[in-house]
Amino acid sequence: MNKLLVVATGNPGKLKEMQAYLADSGWELALKPEDLDVEETGETFAENACLKASEIAKATGNWAIADDSGLKVDTLNGAPGVYSARYGNTDTERIERLLRELGDQENRQAQFVCAIAVANPQGEIVIQSEGICHGEILFAPSGDGGFGYDPVFYVPDKQLTFAQMTTDLKKSISHRGNALKALVPQLIKVVN
Ligand code: IMP
Repeated sequence: MNKLLVVATGNPGKLKEMQAYLADSGWELALKPEDLDVEETGETFAENACLKASEIAKATGNWAIADDSGLKVDTLNGAPGVYSARYGNTDTERIERLLRELGDQENRQAQFVCAIAVANPQGEIVIQSEGICHGEILFAPSGDGGFGYDPVFYVPDKQLTFAQMTTDLKKSISHRGNALKALVPQLIKVVN
């Protein structure tokens, strides 16, 4: 029988993406209860992922999985980092602020980072995984797919921004995809 894994997100899109990686893994994914929210008070992506997984596991009495992700820009000392979602009120405002803070800086190296944590029903962290995708911040947005900072995140290897990629291409190289790929074998080990 499949083991239940509660996903610490209210976002059905995230659930779907995780489900695709975990098909036939022995785990069955479920969205967390709507009224159960955990504040992201950690100073790193990993801290936030662990905090969310642990709290949701304890509150539901099930295994739980949580992720936290964001953009780190080298010359901004890693900003916006864990504040990526809170860097402005809308995606447009967040991108505008990022471009303003970078100004005409020549070094535009950046990474998207995604941390994932899995907690057992006692709230203990059993698995952690991190995925990174390297890129550069453009001077102006390009492309209209994706979300968040995608239009200004350019991946030199592919000569495309995240917003210009197909969903499948983005998934195959993204921070979230890399974190999930590293996680799956560990999750399968736990269930067996
Ligand atoms: P969270 O992990 O859902 O809390 O997302 C954090 C924030 O990081 C999002 O609101 C976006 O602003 C940004 N972010 C995370 N992943 C991506 C991505 O793949 N593309 C663009 N922005 C992202």
